[in-house]
Amino acid sequence: MSSPGGREIAYDDLVFCTGSAPRGLPAAIGGDLDGVCVVRGMSDVDAMRARFAAGARVLIVGGGYIGLEAAAVACKLGLKVTLVEMAERILQRVAAPETSDWFRALHKGHGVDLREGVGLGTLLCEDGKVTAAELTDGTSLPVDFVIVGVGILPETSVAEAAGIEIENGIRTDAFGRCSVPHVWAAGDCASFPLGGAQLRLESVGNAIDQAEAVADNILGAEVPYQPKPWFWSDQYDVKLQIAGLNAGYDKVVVRDGSAGPVSHWYYREGQLIALDAMNDPRAYMVGKRLIEAGKSADPEVVADAGSDLKALLKP
Ligand SMILES: Cc1cc2nc3c(=O)[nH]c(=O)nc-3n(C[C@H](O)[C@H](O)[C@H](O)COP(=O)(O)OP(=O)(O)OC[C@H]3O[C@@H](n4cnc5c(N)ncnc54)[C@H](O)[C@@H]3O)c2cc1C
Repeated sequence: MSSPGGREIAYDDLVFCTGSAPRGLPAAIGGDLDGVCVVRGMSDVDAMRARFAAGARVLIVGGGYIGLEAAAVACKLGLKVTLVEMAERILQRVAAPETSDWFRALHKGHGVDLREGVGLGTLLCEDGKVTAAELTDGTSLPVDFVIVGVGILPETSVAEAAGIEIENGIRTDAFGRCSVPHVWAAGDCASFPLGGAQLRLESVGNAIDQAEAVADNILGAEVPYQPKPWFWSDQYDVKLQIAGLNAGYDKVVVRDGSAGPVSHWYYREGQLIALDAMNDPRAYMVGKRLIEAGKSADPEVVADAGSDLKALLKP
């Protein structure tokens, strides 16, 4: 591969860890206006820091984890927060309705004006600066700034230019190898085969584990990458911890320890596959260990908030 910048560096093996970039809004609906922000790195946060003045009106576009975390931060700092999610419910892509309901109640309880089934139509401006938003239900809102949290795109441009196969990111085999010898990929930019599809996981845990697997395989381990997915999200005083992948779940069991901790356990054909734990590190720890060991958990025991979860770990 030759670099467009000029300098060439030889390699024995090369690993793409190029991550991803936030999807922006099209310029045709105001995506390039002053006051329309995305969140990825510290420079994005620094760039919008001055806009976080108490009383400022912020519109958040997208009710995934990024949008909800941004809403929580803005709300805590005293901004007037409206969040629009064009799907039927927040977190629809990643969580069960029970988890969406839980986080909807949390945000509404903090005063977020949360609107689901409503998308952003277009942004309006004065002198190039965003001033208002028209929503797909015909309403319009005055806004001081907008935070866009509508997903990410894997950063594949250099790999693509080098003729490396792209499929939902930089395509790798189970060992992390790309379509070109001695080239590998890991993290947000990489897809790997799982369950008959090329899967991409967008999480710190995956970036670390997959990079370690690739490093081992460069050294000759020949071990397929087995993801052990985990994720977290901090919103207000809630720590959400997620273990496993909930794809294809057919049942959700709620464990509600009314004093605060709540967990939602996902089953597929009677097998525990994932859980969402809200302020419930014990449930998370037990569920994660069971999932990683390929074990299940009796739904009746899980649903009984008085039961001893640790007993589920006994052989
Ligand atoms: C606001 C926010 C909150 C998040 N919260 C969580 C969370 O709570 N829990 C969680 O698990 N995950 C979270 N994530 C996701 C997590 O940050 C990513 O999954 C993780 O950072 C991916 O790591 P990575 O190394 O693959 O990519 P990145 O962290 O994106 O790193 C890729 C790096 O490569 C650089 N790069 C790209 N192209 C080139 C090039 N051509 N040459 C040289 N360098 C290049 C980029 O500048 C970047 O620094 C969050 C993400 C965001 C944006």
